[in-house]
Amino acid sequence: MTAELLSLVPFEVAEPVGLNEHRQALARRAAWRLEDAPAEVIIQWAARTFGSRLAMTSSMSDAVLIDLFARHAPGTDVVFLDTGYHFTETIGMRDAVAATYRGRLNIITAEPEQTVAEQDATEGRDLFASNPDRCCALRKVAPLDNALADYDAWASGLRRDESFARSITPVVDWDERNGKVKINPIARWTQDRVDAYIEKNNILVNTLLMDGFASIGCFPCTRRVGEGEGVRDGRWAGKGKSECGIHLVSS
Ligand code: SF4
Repeated sequence: MTAELLSLVPFEVAEPVGLNEHRQALARRAAWRLEDAPAEVIIQWAARTFGSRLAMTSSMSDAVLIDLFARHAPGTDVVFLDTGYHFTETIGMRDAVAATYRGRLNIITAEPEQTVAEQDATEGRDLFASNPDRCCALRKVAPLDNALADYDAWASGLRRDESFARSITPVVDWDERNGKVKINPIARWTQDRVDAYIEKNNILVNTLLMDGFASIGCFPCTRRVGEGEGVRDGRWAGKGKSECGIHLVSS
C-alpha cells in the first residue's frame, strides 16, 4: 500500500526547487494525489521530496505528529515556538519530548526577537489584551517565519475537525506567506483517532489536556473549555479571534 501510493507521486526532487511556482504546483498535485493516503505515506513523501529541507512544528500539546515523524522521517527538525507566555506544563512537555526522542528528532526552540519585558517597554504592557493580533504577529508569526527561513517545506498537526476554519485543510498546502510547501499529515484524523493513537503507542501528552484544556496556547489567551464547547473555543475567548495567523489555509 505504501509503495503503491508513493509511486503515484513521482515528483520527488533531489535538489531544492527554486521557483515558488514550481513548489506551488507540486503542493497542489500532492494535495490531490495524497488526499486519501495514510499519514505515514504523506510523511514519507515529504521526507523523500524535501530531505533535510523539511521541518515540522509542534505546539507541544501532544506528541502524536512528533512520534509519526520519528518513525517515518527520523532526523527531522522539530520547531517549537517559545512565545515567553507558555504554561510551565508546555515547557515541561517540550523537555520531555526532547529527552524521549533524542537521537531520532532534533528539537529546536525558536523565540521572538524581544523578551516579554522588552515588548512591554516598546509596545505597552500586556499587548495580548490590547492588541492580540499584533502580539501574535510579534511573538508567533514573525519568529516562526524566521525559524523556517532555511527550509522548503514544513509540517503541522492541523486537523479538519478542530474548527470550522480548519475544516478545509488539505493534506498538502501552499504557504503563500513564506513561499513554502506545507504538509498536514493528520488533517483527516479525528479526535477519536488521535486519542486511540496516544493510547496504543503510549504517546506523551501535555498534562493540561487532563485538566480541562482542549487546545493549548499562551496562558493569557487560553482557558479551559466547558461541556459542549469546541476544541478551540478556549483560545482567545471573547476576543473575536480564533487563529494566531500562522496557519492560513490556502485552498
Ligand atoms: Fe500574545 Fe496571546 Fe498571541 Fe500568545 S496567543 S502571542 S500571548 S496574543
